[in-house]
Amino acid sequence: MSDVILETRGLTKKYKNQYALDNVSITLKKNHIYGFIGENGAGKSTLMKILAGLIFPTSGDMTFMGETDPSAIEQKRKSVGTMIEGPYLYPGYSVRQNVELQRLLIGNPDESATDRVIELVGLSDSKKKKAKKLSMGMKQRLGIAMAMVGNPRFLILDEPINGLDPKNIVTLRSMLKKINQDNDCTIFVSSHILSELYLLATDFIFIHKGKIIETVTHEQLEEKCSQYIFIRNNNIPETVTILEKHFPYVNYKVESDETVKVYAKSDIMTELSGYMMQAGITISELSEKELTLEEYFISITGGGNNV
Ligand code: ADP
Repeated sequence: MSDVILETRGLTKKYKNQYALDNVSITLKKNHIYGFIGENGAGKSTLMKILAGLIFPTSGDMTFMGETDPSAIEQKRKSVGTMIEGPYLYPGYSVRQNVELQRLLIGNPDESATDRVIELVGLSDSKKKKAKKLSMGMKQRLGIAMAMVGNPRFLILDEPINGLDPKNIVTLRSMLKKINQDNDCTIFVSSHILSELYLLATDFIFIHKGKIIETVTHEQLEEKCSQYIFIRNNNIPETVTILEKHFPYVNYKVESDETVKVYAKSDIMTELSGYMMQAGITISELSEKELTLEEYFISITGGGNNV
């Protein structure tokens, strides 16, 4: 049996003259947790809506749970739980009523599912509370309970961490890990902040201006984030020329009149210092440093000066 739950091929979504998604091809494996990372407006919600069947792509197609035909995929949508652009709650209904209604809407005949998912998200003590009286964190948890009540194999959560305080983020993270493990559920979760998903996701997919720019496993990301080369010298413009000429695929960021960060491994250091010395540049610092997650994100999305 295939270990792939979902695959997209060349998904494109065009609004008038603008591409919200541009040729998106991704493969998601069963039981992984995918962190879907991109700045606001990058195209995250658009892809999630297409995967959830809420909107249609301009072109491209997908295979979900082995099905490629759109009507067959539609049949499998019972196995998808979603929370896209915030939980849709009935404010005057209680926690339990909201989940129960969703269970009926999705057509899950298992009555015990309602209380089970409420328990799962830690809202058992607030079952009778009206949705409008819940805190932001509780609303998010209720939204996830509603996404879970159909016992999904695939959970799509759009920015669920948005607006949560640090304590709620920890709760949400452990809850999603439990859902992933106990329910064999693949999770596709988005954020515009990489570090929010770093401790949760097993894999990361980066989107920028509608294009997938990188897909990495947690281990690969850890390795990529481990180092960059820090240069301090008396001729940054010439250093930039050297970087452009000899290391065209390496991203860099000019930090000041005399410093530049080069997002590459230390194995290019000798060659790089050789070029700088040849050009008569006086190097006052050339060292390997750690890259933070957000710096890494900036480095691949072209926050540097060379993109
Ligand atoms: P994200 O979820 O990453 O913040 P979105 O997927 O919401 O990004 O949006 C991607 C791009 O598509 C944005 O530039 C947005 O303005 C545009 N967009 C999204 N939905 C529509 C729409 N219904 N009509 C026109 N443009 C849209």
